[in-house]
Parts: sequence; C-alpha cells; structure tokens
Amino acid sequence: MASNKSFFEEVMSFFDKAAARTKHPKGLLDQMKYCNSTYEVKFPVQKDDGEIELIYAYRVEHSHHKLPVKGGIRYSPLVTVDEVKALAALMTFKCAAVDVPFGGAKGGIRINPKDYSERTLERITRRYTAELVKKNFIGPGIDVPAPDMGSGQREMAWIFDTYMQITPPHIDSAGCVTGKPIPQGGVDGRVAATGRGVYFAIREACSIAEDMKKLGLTPGISGKRCIVQGLGNVGYYTAKNLQDNGAILTTLIEYEGAIHNPDGLDIDDVLKHREETGSILKYKGAQDITPSIKALEMDADILVPAAIENQITMDNVKNIKAKLIAEAANGPVTAKASEALAEGGVQIIPDLYCNAGGVTVSYFEWLKNLQHVRFGRMDKRFEESTNFKILHAMERVTGHSFSEEERHLITKGPDEIDLVDSGLEETMIEGYHEMRHVYKTTGAEDLRTGAFINSINKVALSYEQLGIFP
Ligand code: NAD
Repeated sequence: MASNKSFFEEVMSFFDKAAARTKHPKGLLDQMKYCNSTYEVKFPVQKDDGEIELIYAYRVEHSHHKLPVKGGIRYSPLVTVDEVKALAALMTFKCAAVDVPFGGAKGGIRINPKDYSERTLERITRRYTAELVKKNFIGPGIDVPAPDMGSGQREMAWIFDTYMQITPPHIDSAGCVTGKPIPQGGVDGRVAATGRGVYFAIREACSIAEDMKKLGLTPGISGKRCIVQGLGNVGYYTAKNLQDNGAILTTLIEYEGAIHNPDGLDIDDVLKHREETGSILKYKGAQDITPSIKALEMDADILVPAAIENQITMDNVKNIKAKLIAEAANGPVTAKASEALAEGGVQIIPDLYCNAGGVTVSYFEWLKNLQHVRFGRMDKRFEESTNFKILHAMERVTGHSFSEEERHLITKGPDEIDLVDSGLEETMIEGYHEMRHVYKTTGAEDLRTGAFINSINKVALSYEQLGIFP
C-alpha cells in the first residue's frame, strides 16, 4: 500500500520521531517544524505559437533561523505546494546536518521543461525571478535559489541576469543564486557536487567494517553491485564516481525502463546509447526490465534512488534486496517503508545528509561571490614555491633527484576545483561520523533519526542564540 501521507507529512513523521528524543519545548519544535513563509504565484506566459498559458509557481522559506535561506528550484509538472514545503523543510535540516549556515527554502515551477522551447523557458524563468524580487523572496542575504530537478546552469544564469537587471546595483548581487556557469560567478565543481557528495557518503558508510559486517558486506566500494535510479545530474555523477572507484553498475533505471547486466554497465556508454536511440532500453548485452520501478527490486549490494520521492513504499519494500540504500534523491523512501527496511536490517543513508553535497558547494560558490576572488588565486603560487623549496632541500640533503612527474605532483598548488573537492570531501566525511555518533549515542532507531536529532539540536541552538526563546 503506497503512503496516504503527503510528502510534507512524510518528512514531518521523520521530524516528529526525532523530536520526541529531544527535550526542546513544544513551541520551539513547532516553530522548527512548519514553514515560515509560502509564496504561491501564477503568471501568464506567451508561447512561441502565440498561445497564452498560465504558469503556477512557488517559493517556500521553511526556516529563517539563519539567513539567507537556501534551496533549489524544481521544474516539474508534478510540483505542488506540499512538495515544495517538504523539500524546503528538508533543506533546513540538510544545511544543519553539514554545518552550512543557511535556513531552508525551495522553489517549484509546475511545468515539464521538455514541453517548452528554450525561449519560452527563459521567459518563464525570468518572470518567476521578477515575482520573487517583487516579494523579497530572493537576494544574496535573503533567499538564494539553486538548481534542482529539471533546472541547471542555464536557468541559474537567467535568474542572475534578471536579478541584476531589476534590482539596484549591489556589490554582492552575484550571490543571489548559485549553480551559475563559471564565467558568471559559478564555482568549479558545482555541477558534479551532489553526485560526488553521494559517492563520498557511500564510501564513508562502506569504510566502517563494523557496520558492513552487520549488512553481510565487506568494507570498501570496489566490487559492490549497485543499482542507480535516475540518470540526471545527481544520478549520473553518483554512478560515474562509483564506477570510477571500482563499483559495478549492475542495474540502471530511467523512467522509460531499466537495464540489467550482472557484469556491469558503462554509464557513459549507456547515456550515449540513450542519446542515439531515445531510450536506455535495448542496450547491448543487457536485459530490459519494465516497468522500471520493478528494477529497484533487483539483487544488489547498494541501491541509489536518484530520481524522485516515494519510490520505496509499503508496496515494494518487502521485495528490496539491496543492503545499503543511499538516498541521493529527496524523499525516495516513505516513513513506513523506512521503518520496515530498518527492521529488515537494511541501512539507509538518509537524504538530508546523503545529497547535501550540492548545497555544500553552493555555499562555497556564495562565499566566492561575496569575497569576489576565485578560490586558490591568492595562495596557489605561494604554495607551489614553498613546496618547491622543501623539495629542493630534500634533494640536497638526500642526494635523490625526483623525476619531472614527481616534481609536478609534489609541488603543484591547488586550483579552485581541488579546494572545492577537498571542502566537499571533508564536509561529507565529518557529516557522516557526526550523524552516526548521534545515532549511536542516543539509541535512535536508525541513521535518519540520528541525523534529524543532530539537526534539530543545531537549529534549536540557533533560535536560542537569537533570543527568541529565552
Ligand atoms: P534531473 O532532472 O537532472 O534528473 C532526474 C532524472 O530522473 C532524469 O533523468 C529523469 O528522467 C529521471 N526520472 C524521473 N522520474 C523517474 C522515475 N520515476 N523513474 C526513473 N527515473 C526517473 O534532477 P536531479 O537534479 O538529478 O535531481 C534528482 C533528485 O536529487 C531530486 O530528488 C532532487 O531534489 C535531488 N537533489 C538534487 C540536487 C541537485 O544539485 N541537482 C541536490 C540535492 C538533491
């Protein structure tokens, strides 16, 4: 039986379970639970054939305990205000989970981007931005959108440009949105960040021998059989990182169907095949599986749902065979299914931590925009010359002469991508152990409850420090 709860209610079930394990007053917990501000707007757009269509769009700011608030904009025909509220709430607890100093927010435009020309999409995005500006729902210190399902760098560039055109000039304007193309103030590594973060999360989970033993798995990523659902931004980069680090992609799932090969599928080649044929089905050497949702039930070690919410419910939970589930998407497992999986000994790496790599690198982009200098610009050459002096001294003392390749590896100073990747890796490693520590020390039911307790405590502290609840 699929859940009869809305997505927001699902997220709140997780919140309530964790909140019951804290000692915060009910009023404070209520403040943390419900959304602070919700903006629902509809506006007309003229399409290329002259037809006028009404567009429904939303922006929800869940918690103002820290400013700006932050969260992506989803372009999907299934967007509802309830969904945007759920995603905004998750953003609050996600930012707290990885110490990104933002409140949570989310946006949604109820369209299927595939049904519109680029020109019309641009008009919709610019008008949406203008609506946000009118109501003070966007700004570098107020509310900073980012990409989500159905949106990417192109849309973020339109948002930035519109914001610049219709607001008074301000030195920090570039920080009004993240996920921008690099020439427009984006940061190197943002596009791949969420998937790369999911990979670091899985790697961390797999590195703990005690936890792997409980799952009947050996430590390490290499050789693990993986299912990935959704081969968009998050799913692709997760799959690519898993593959590059020795995991075997046995099942890949898109909405048109799924393919399976126990010997492994090459993610880039599968996507090339999809581009050429319009589908991942009929890929050489692979077995087709339809309907695609059945492929979640294939035998594997790791399952990565990276598409949409409500994919593992009480309808299919008993058929899930993977031992480790990494929630790359937001809300892919319902609250009841999550409980059933925990009872069955399956470990879930929860969304509020697992896909936090995106907002982490968005935070780095925002910092770059406010400091007006590329990461690495000040120190790269200095580090190189320091390393070179150390190398030179070592050669003098030892009499050993390093090869050109070794010299380059040892002396190279960091580029922006190196620093961003290092910050992302550090964040995901720290975040995992903090979440696991709270889970272990509070006796919480599962990692998700541990993660929520940890985030609730941090948000509560912020409110207490603001003096709202003396
Ligand atoms: P995307 O639009 O780039 O990709 C989504 C992919 O999933 C598409 O290829 C789509 O065809 C596929 N898909 C949709 N419905 C499906 C279904 N029922 N079965 C199988 N495949 C399906 O979106 P994205 O940015 O990769 O986001 C995916 C998920 O990750 C969402 O839940 C989103 O909220 C979450 N997320 C995204 C980011 C980010 O930085 N983009 C950050 C955090 C979380």
